[in-house]
Amino acid sequence: MRHSLPIHVSPETYDKFNACVHCGLCLPACPTYVETANEADSPRGRIHLMRATVDGVIEPSAIVNEHLDRCLVCRACETACPSGVQYHALIEAVRPQLAQHVHGRTLQSPILEFVVKHIFPYPRRVALSVLPLRLANAVGLGGLAQKVARMMPGPLGAMTEVLPDGPILSRSLPAFTPALGERRGSVLLLQGCVGSVVSRDLNAACITVLTRNGFDVHTLSAEPCCGAMAAHANDPQGAADFAAQLVELLATRDDDYFVSPIAGCGAQLKALDHVLHDQTRYHDKVRAVVRKMRDINEFLGEVGLRPPQGRIERTVTYHDPCHLLNAQRISETPRQLLRQIPGLTLVALPETDLCCGAAGTYNLSQPEMAAQLGQRKVGNIQTTGATECITANVGCQLQIERHLKAAGQDMPVRHVIELLAESYAKSPV
Ligand code: SF4
Ligand code: SF4
Repeated sequence: MRHSLPIHVSPETYDKFNACVHCGLCLPACPTYVETANEADSPRGRIHLMRATVDGVIEPSAIVNEHLDRCLVCRACETACPSGVQYHALIEAVRPQLAQHVHGRTLQSPILEFVVKHIFPYPRRVALSVLPLRLANAVGLGGLAQKVARMMPGPLGAMTEVLPDGPILSRSLPAFTPALGERRGSVLLLQGCVGSVVSRDLNAACITVLTRNGFDVHTLSAEPCCGAMAAHANDPQGAADFAAQLVELLATRDDDYFVSPIAGCGAQLKALDHVLHDQTRYHDKVRAVVRKMRDINEFLGEVGLRPPQGRIERTVTYHDPCHLLNAQRISETPRQLLRQIPGLTLVALPETDLCCGAAGTYNLSQPEMAAQLGQRKVGNIQTTGATECITANVGCQLQIERHLKAAGQDMPVRHVIELLAESYAKSPV
C-alpha cells in the first residue's frame, strides 16, 4: 500500500538512492550498526528506510525518524562505500522533513532546538550560558553547581557537562599578530562560534604555530557561525542564512587563506557550494571563499611545516575526527605533523576512524548512543599505552576528555596544534 507523500527530494537527490547496490560493505564502518547490530541503524538500512518513505511505501513514522536521528552523519559509510553513494546528501534532504512531519519541529526536544539554534551559534550567548558554572567553580562551589545543573531538563543538564570549565572572562585574541621569521603570507584564523568560547587556548596555539611558520594572523572580533550548528539542528534554511552572512564577510577579505582548527567548521565551509546551491547570487563569492579555505593541518602540510625543535618525550595516540577523515578526507597529514615533533612517539589507536560520539550536537540529542561510543573510544585509548590522546576537532576533544574522566582517567586530550605550539615554545624563534 502506498501512503501519501509528505517527504520530497529533488530528482537529482533521488538519483543518489540508485547508486546504492545494497552490498553492505559500509556496515562494519558504521558506529551505530557496530553498537546495535540492527540493520535499521546501518547505512544500507537507513537508505532503504529513506527511499521507502520518499516513495510512500512506508509511513513517515516516529520509528523511522528514530533510526535516522540515531545517525551521526559521520560519513564513515561514504569512505567505505565502493559505489560512491553520497549518503550525507540523502539524510540531509530527508531528515529535516521527517522531523517536521513527526514532531512539528526540526529536533525532538524543543529545549535542544532552542539551545542549538539560539545559543550555540552566538559566542556571547555561549559565554553567558556557561558563566554561572564558571563563577561557581571560581568560588569553590563547582561540584554543587554541577549537581544542580545536571538536574536541569534533558539537554540543558547535558550541555553543562559537555561544555568545559574555563576562565570566567576570557580576553579576546589579538586582531592581528605579525609573522615571525621570513614572511610567507597572511591567514584569517576562523575561531568558530562555540569554539571561540570553549577552546580559546587552542586558538591561541594556532596563532603561535601560524606565526612561527611565517604567516600574519588576523582574527575577527565578531565571527558569524558557519551554519554547522543549524545543519546539526536539521535546519537547512538556517544553515544557508548563516553561511550567506559569513560568505558576504569573507568575500571582502584579502587574506591569502582562511584557516580553521575545527574539523566540523572546515567541513561545513568547504561544502558552501552545496549549502548555498540554490542561491545563484552567491556562487562566485562561494567559489572564491572555498578556494582559500583550509583545515589548519591541511594548510601546514601544504605550505610545509617549519620543523619544531622543542623535544616532547611523550607517547601519544591520534583519534581521527569524522569531519576531517570522512568529510575532508584528511588522515595522514595530522600524523605527519606530529611525527615532526622531536621525541614524540605516536602509537596507533584501534578503531581510530570510529566516531567518538561527539558529532556536533549528537551528545545532546542522543546521549545514550553518544555515551556508548565515548566509552568504546576510551576503551580503545586505554589499550595503547599512550599518556595523551591527540585529535583535531574541539568536539572530539570535549567528548573523549569527558568519558576518560568518567572512567577515572586523568588523561589530557589535545589538538595537534597545541602539541606543535608546545614544541615551538621550547625553542627560540
Ligand atoms: S551505501 Fe555503498 S557500501 Fe553501503 S550498501 Fe550501499 S552501495 Fe554498499
Ligand atoms: S553517517 Fe555514520 S552513523 Fe550515519 S549511516 Fe553513515 S556510518 Fe552510520
